[in-house]
Amino acid sequence: MRDSNCIFCKISGGEIPSKTIYEDEEFRVILDISPASKGHALIIPKEHYANLYEMPEDAAGRVMILAKKLAGHMTERLKCDGFNIVQNNGETAGQTVFHFHMHLIPRYAGDGNQDKLCWNHLELSQEELDEIWQKLK
Ligand code: 5GP
Ligand code: ZN
Repeated sequence: MRDSNCIFCKISGGEIPSKTIYEDEEFRVILDISPASKGHALIIPKEHYANLYEMPEDAAGRVMILAKKLAGHMTERLKCDGFNIVQNNGETAGQTVFHFHMHLIPRYAGDGNQDKLCWNHLELSQEELDEIWQKLK
């Protein structure tokens, strides 16, 4: 389903022009308009899923396969030194466009970003770790 109010539906459907680096029946991959590095791209499914939770498993699998192919292609063409893959779900996690997308971020020595795209490291006690482990296993 496409959402007529969604910018990524319009971009992936070709209604709004974009710098497309790859397209097939299911996905469009475009350069990010406000990139973290030279070559930062977004894999956008043409179907509207707000986030990973809404996306069917088989489509999620195909996104990862495409991400792997593009990581190789982009690394070869851009001669980058490393590569981050990022995918945000929900406002709390930094999502700003509520149509699933996966960030492909080529990394270069001295590109000005933190080496590790950043999160804080908590110091949890054994009890706290155990409590989380009980919930998840
Ligand atoms: P999020 O924060 O939701 O994970 O990422 C949204 C990304 O989409 C941001 O990196 C932002 O720069 C990019 N973006 C937002 N609007 C547009 C647009 O109209 N065109 C392109 N090419 N990128 C966009
Ligand atoms: Zn959409």
